[in-house]
Amino acid sequence: MPAARVLIDGPSELVFDYAIPEGMAVQAGCRVRVPLRNRSSTGTVLAVSSDDDNADLGFSLRPIDALTDPEPLITPRLLELARWIANYYGASIESVIRVLLPEAVRTEDKSAKTRKAVVLVQQPDPETFAQLEKRAPKQATIISLLAHAPDLKLALTELGNAASPSVKSLEKKGLVRLVTQEVRREPDADGTDELLPTTDLTLTDEQQVALEAILTSSAKSEVPSANGAPASAGTSPPDVPRTRDRKNSLITDHRSLITPAKPFLLHGVTGSGKTEIYLQAARQVLEAGRTVLVLVPEISLTPQTVRRFRARFADIQDQVAVLHSHLSQGERFDEWHRIRKGKARIVIGARSAVFAPLPDLGLILVDEEHENSYKQDQIPRYHGRDVAVLRGHLEGACVVLGSATPSLESWQNALDGKYQLLRLTKRVDDQSMPLIRVIDMRLESRKQKSKDSFLSDRLRNSINDRLEKGEQTILFLNRRGFARSLQCPSCGHVCTCPHCALALTYHRTDERLICHICGHQAVVPRKCPECSDRGISLQGFGTQKVEDVFRKVFPTARVARIDADALRKKNALRDLLNAFRSKKIDLLIGTQMIAKGLHFPNVTLVGILNADIGLHVPDFRAGERVFQLMTQVAGRAGRGELEGEVVVQTFTPHSPSIQFARHHDFDGFAEQELEMRRQFGFPPFTRCAVLTSRSTHERRAEFTLETLHRRLKEDLPAGIELGEPLPSPLVKAHGQFRFQLMLRGPKARALTKHVQQVLEKTTLPEDVTVVFDMDALSFT
Ligand code: ADP
Ligand code: ZN
Repeated sequence: MPAARVLIDGPSELVFDYAIPEGMAVQAGCRVRVPLRNRSSTGTVLAVSSDDDNADLGFSLRPIDALTDPEPLITPRLLELARWIANYYGASIESVIRVLLPEAVRTEDKSAKTRKAVVLVQQPDPETFAQLEKRAPKQATIISLLAHAPDLKLALTELGNAASPSVKSLEKKGLVRLVTQEVRREPDADGTDELLPTTDLTLTDEQQVALEAILTSSAKSEVPSANGAPASAGTSPPDVPRTRDRKNSLITDHRSLITPAKPFLLHGVTGSGKTEIYLQAARQVLEAGRTVLVLVPEISLTPQTVRRFRARFADIQDQVAVLHSHLSQGERFDEWHRIRKGKARIVIGARSAVFAPLPDLGLILVDEEHENSYKQDQIPRYHGRDVAVLRGHLEGACVVLGSATPSLESWQNALDGKYQLLRLTKRVDDQSMPLIRVIDMRLESRKQKSKDSFLSDRLRNSINDRLEKGEQTILFLNRRGFARSLQCPSCGHVCTCPHCALALTYHRTDERLICHICGHQAVVPRKCPECSDRGISLQGFGTQKVEDVFRKVFPTARVARIDADALRKKNALRDLLNAFRSKKIDLLIGTQMIAKGLHFPNVTLVGILNADIGLHVPDFRAGERVFQLMTQVAGRAGRGELEGEVVVQTFTPHSPSIQFARHHDFDGFAEQELEMRRQFGFPPFTRCAVLTSRSTHERRAEFTLETLHRRLKEDLPAGIELGEPLPSPLVKAHGQFRFQLMLRGPKARALTKHVQQVLEKTTLPEDVTVVFDMDALSFT
């Protein structure tokens, strides 16, 4: 009897073999219901083995109860991608499948949303109608509504709940019929502003060269043969292992390994027209019958990119899916299945959209490829860009990574010839790059003598100048803060820990308030516990203070601030940006988060208040981040008719990052930064991982990491460099003490394998958590 290897849903990563009952079309990637001890459970089929493979099995397997979906939800290639991620990042395959199949898709509630609608069966004769009007005016109203538009199907909900008795009596009289309509839970389109369809622009020479390279490559890249075509049970690869040992369950399907074209690195200065290339490439790939995946760092922060795609593809609006974090479970379910069935053929989304089940993928675009938000900071700690590159490789899709400030990892890949470099050196409008003035704040603070003088004379004058001319200003605060508390704007109440009487800290990733002393957690209140004000919001100590000062210094200016709250609420950010675009705000203050992808023609001044704050952190990418921030920020100035100016305030004006950024010299920066990385053995010349131990018990966290360090040192594979266990720069967070050590090596796999072997042999104390982060981007 053929058998299936099933990964049981749940955290314990159980893998068992089950017999496939006759006639049940089970394939790898299918979702099944299986018996588990005396319960029933759901799971995912990792592999299927044929009759003969099981002939010598000394016992009989329990059969699968049912297929929960008739077709496999995961294609063979996505399953292979999942295995690669699990191996590479040292994560369980279960954790990867969890991101591959969103919660909404895994849970069994398959009910498409429906609604009851009323249809007119027969028009009553005038006499009956007159009677209705007299005795049952509601019924009469319903009839006349329906009679006016014979094709109309009135949803019950549109008539109001009270209408249903009336509808029932009408139904009894045989005048109307109730039908069930299926409705797609349509995610509300972002932007109340209407979309004006756009058409292809005539490309510049540089754009043309880049587009042609991409199209030539995508035409050549072939759809690999094993394109997820249903293989009936029994025709699985012969190398399916028979043991129940889950460690052996990571089978690679070598059939799907092909050699597609190289990924492209599209390096184009801000305003050079990268997005126009994406749009035209996407169109052509769609017209060739294949599908397109567009990754952006974060949907809410790149509204313009999303809007430009929607406007360009307005004619096929129903084939566009935008996956953003505000989708409800139902919407997510519907969108996922729409994509899988090939109805949505262009998908725009953030990191996790890299797993969108698009069939016949032809093109993957990764915008702002250098952005850190592509790295997931929870298990599995994958990098969306790197997964995109691998997915393109597996599916024979062309991959384009675009940025004005490529990550040095991607840049080195281009230098090594692993990526093909495409360059756009000029702004489309032929405007010169904005002038960047670097202000030495050491001199300013001596001059001003006031302690919180974070506003230089130069910047103050420039802002005043813009206010007079009616032009707009954006100010960036380079913040690396962690501590954020929740305070009510009307009564001043601060959410505090009931055990320690200290302010609780808002933790964005899991939407909780956490005490840094005892680890106590609380939900984020919707209204103030004291005075019930709904305005209780996050008081970022940074931007808030800056805003206060600016209101005082520029009393006539209309000042607004983008903070975490604006990012959290569904429409707050959009409303704010719309207000800014329609010039209802003069001065917009925000952190580096808003440096991405925003485009406002009337902004002629951009200021960075504390450019170098990120330089003094124990992170070898600090310089790269400051360079990126300055370049991205400068790209926000003067993108319209007007000339732009950038003012950068810094206490270290001569640092190379700041000077190279000032001269718009990416190559120069990359060259000297890469030299430094090479000398000190940092990525991209090595792979770097961080092992962190955390516990509420300081000593135990430290001891655990020391033990792991000792064991890692035994049989340390050649070439791997093991760092010392040290307290993390952020020694204590969320009530836990943190220790970390860094590992570096020439190859990621060897490194991950070594750490995993040690972790498997080590029994961790119950109250210590150990986290392994391959290709770590954060060292706090
Ligand atoms: P990037 O993505 O590289 O920052 P964009 O694609 O946003 O650049 O282009 C900047 C501006 O130039 C946009 O307003 C865009 O519509 C316009 N643009 C792009 N390509 C062309 C072109 N070939 N001709 C005219 N305008 C263009
Ligand atoms: Zn506490």
